[in-house]
Amino acid sequence: MQLPNLDNARVRSKKEVKKIDYKFNNKYQNIGKNLTYHVKTYGCQMNEHDTENIEGLLESLGFSKNNEMEKADIVILNTCSIRENAHNKAFGMLGRLKHLKEENPNLIVGVCGCMAQEEVVVSEILSKYRHVNFVFGTHNLYDLPRLIYENMENSKTKVLVESIEGDVIEGLPVVRASKFKAYVNIIYGCDKFCTYCIVPYTRGKQRSRKMEDILDEVRKLKENGYQEVTLLGQNVNAYGKDLDEGYDLSNLLEKVAKINIPRVRFITSHPWDFTDKMIEVISKYENIMPYVHLPLQSGSDRILKLMGRRYTRESYKKLFDKLKKIEGISITTDIIVGFPGETEEDFLDTLDMVNYCQYDSAFTFIYSPRVGTPAAKLYEMDDTKEEVKEERLYRLNELINNYSLLSNQKMEDKVYKILVEGKSSKDGMMYGYTETNKLVNFKGSEDLVGKIVDVKITSAKSFSLDGELVE
Ligand code: SAM
Ligand code: SF4
Repeated sequence: MQLPNLDNARVRSKKEVKKIDYKFNNKYQNIGKNLTYHVKTYGCQMNEHDTENIEGLLESLGFSKNNEMEKADIVILNTCSIRENAHNKAFGMLGRLKHLKEENPNLIVGVCGCMAQEEVVVSEILSKYRHVNFVFGTHNLYDLPRLIYENMENSKTKVLVESIEGDVIEGLPVVRASKFKAYVNIIYGCDKFCTYCIVPYTRGKQRSRKMEDILDEVRKLKENGYQEVTLLGQNVNAYGKDLDEGYDLSNLLEKVAKINIPRVRFITSHPWDFTDKMIEVISKYENIMPYVHLPLQSGSDRILKLMGRRYTRESYKKLFDKLKKIEGISITTDIIVGFPGETEEDFLDTLDMVNYCQYDSAFTFIYSPRVGTPAAKLYEMDDTKEEVKEERLYRLNELINNYSLLSNQKMEDKVYKILVEGKSSKDGMMYGYTETNKLVNFKGSEDLVGKIVDVKITSAKSFSLDGELVE
């Protein structure tokens, strides 16, 4: 049993990050022969990509994918701990799996992802969800074959969650969800420790992959016909800072762009680490998509300070204005309302920033206390009523949606390049995304999937656009 430990998760040392090449252990070959797996994923793109590696590991053992959870032999929940509702969803699913296991006692249930890194969650699983076969942490993903093997052999390792700063594991097997769009990790973990956020504790220290390893992966994707890569990290703009190799995100973006994949994206950017050189590179290369997700979190300097965000309204606006000069750019954001002690005046500052930035769209959240984070202590003393927070969220969303609609309306009657993703099961329309990451629905045939086509926008809504194919 290796249990998570919050105090250890907080540690940041000067210890060198190890690069480990994953090696398959032949002992585990074929343990999944004639068996099927189902992985349920919650949370962000990083979790989605981890799932691609989990599926790769499972298939290397001989398991095959089962789209019906109820019929699978092994079910793995890849969880998210960013807000309470993500917790609730995963625990709800564990309840459902309990019934499945009663019907099929041979079912293997595993839990991983960010929730597995939390002390409180693991002790709850051990006491109340005894049907879970094993729990493994974000640093222990590569050890999944051993965990399954041991569970099948009955020499059970129930919990394998290290609370370490973390290594960089290269060469994990992968089953990509798409044949034309791919996620590529460039930096793991986070050292920002924003006071509300659990990620630095669940994902370990900020550690970049070597540029050559990333470029190799992108080159292979290009060879395999991929149309789009998204460079992933909690804070991609900090890429390279921990490596001391003399390169940063601007150098990486430039090298990735030159591989000539039609679309290069990167997410998420922290306003603190955005340099002029990065903006220059984004403007220079046509295949670097004019789209930046730039989380604001709050428009109040007082709250930004309490959040530990390291920028002010003014410095954010200055950066925003520079980014806005990139031709055709779309900028989106994340905003939290109801941070402990947020007053109406603070909230009005947030609305004021939204009016200034007129974002293309935004993800908005009510603050959710996370055990062990500094803001959770402030929350204990906060007497702001839930109704007040909900009402602020409502007002914020109204404003955001107005600006989304406005920015979409500006696209009407113009032609945009769309990477076609699929056919909607609801209305049979084809759908895809613009270079600025806007969803477009249009009539077309299924053989367009995976291709970049021209679509003329005919009408705009807040969350999507309708268009017609330009032949
Ligand atoms: N690393 C990115 C950044 O710095 O913005 C995103 C991290 S997180 C996966 C995505 C978003 O969740 C954050 O931008 C923030 O708005 C929101 N979030 C994080 N912790 C939260 C909390 N405790 N309560 C509510 N929202 C939270
Ligand atoms: Fe969380 Fe802040 Fe790190 Fe983003 S930068 S992952 S919000 S601590």
